[in-house]
Amino acid sequence: MRTAIYPGTFDPITNGHIDIIQRALKLFDKVIITVARNSVKDPLFSEEERLAMIKEAVRHLKGVEVDSFDGLLVSYARRKKATAFVRGLRAISDFEYELQMALMNRKLNEDLVTVFLMPNEKYTYLNSSIVREIARHRGNVSKFVPPHVLRELKKKFAHM
Ligand code: ADP
Repeated sequence: MRTAIYPGTFDPITNGHIDIIQRALKLFDKVIITVARNSVKDPLFSEEERLAMIKEAVRHLKGVEVDSFDGLLVSYARRKKATAFVRGLRAISDFEYELQMALMNRKLNEDLVTVFLMPNEKYTYLNSSIVREIARHRGNVSKFVPPHVLRELKKKFAHM
C-alpha cells in the first residue's frame, strides 16, 4: 500500500488544496492530509476547526485520512509508514521554498520522496491567505472554497 502525506496549514482548506488531493489519489492508495500544528502564530481557524473543514471537504473521497502533527515531518511520515510527501506547485514563486524543504527532508530521510503536483490553472493564483483577506473585506470567495468553508468564513467575520 502506497501512502503519502500532504502537509499544510489549511487555514482554511481551499479548492486548490482539494484539487491537489484528488490528483494525489491517482498516485497513492492513501493520502494523509495533515495539519501542521503551530505552523503559523495566529491562525484564523483553530486546529479543530481546520480539521473539521478538511474532513467535510474530503468526505466523498476514498483513501483519505485527516490528521494533525507537530515536530519533524520525516518522523511523522515514518510513524505513518508513508513513502512520500505531496506538495502543490502553483508558480515559480513556490519553487524556491519547496525545493529547500524537499532537499532538507531528503537529507533527513533519503527514503522519502517529495512529489509536486500542479493544480488546475484556475487555482494557480489561489492561497488561503488571499481567501482570508477577501472574506475579511466581504468579497465573494464562493469560487475558491467549498460551501461549508464559505459558511465558516462568513461566521468568522460576521461580528466585524
Ligand atoms: P497556503 O497558505 O499557501 O494555502 P498551505 O500550507 O495550506 O499554504 O499549503 C499546503 C500545500 O498546498 C503547499 O504545498 C501549497 O503549495 C499547496 N497549495 C496551497 N494552495 C494551493 C493551490 N491553490 N493550488 C495548488 N497547491 C496549493
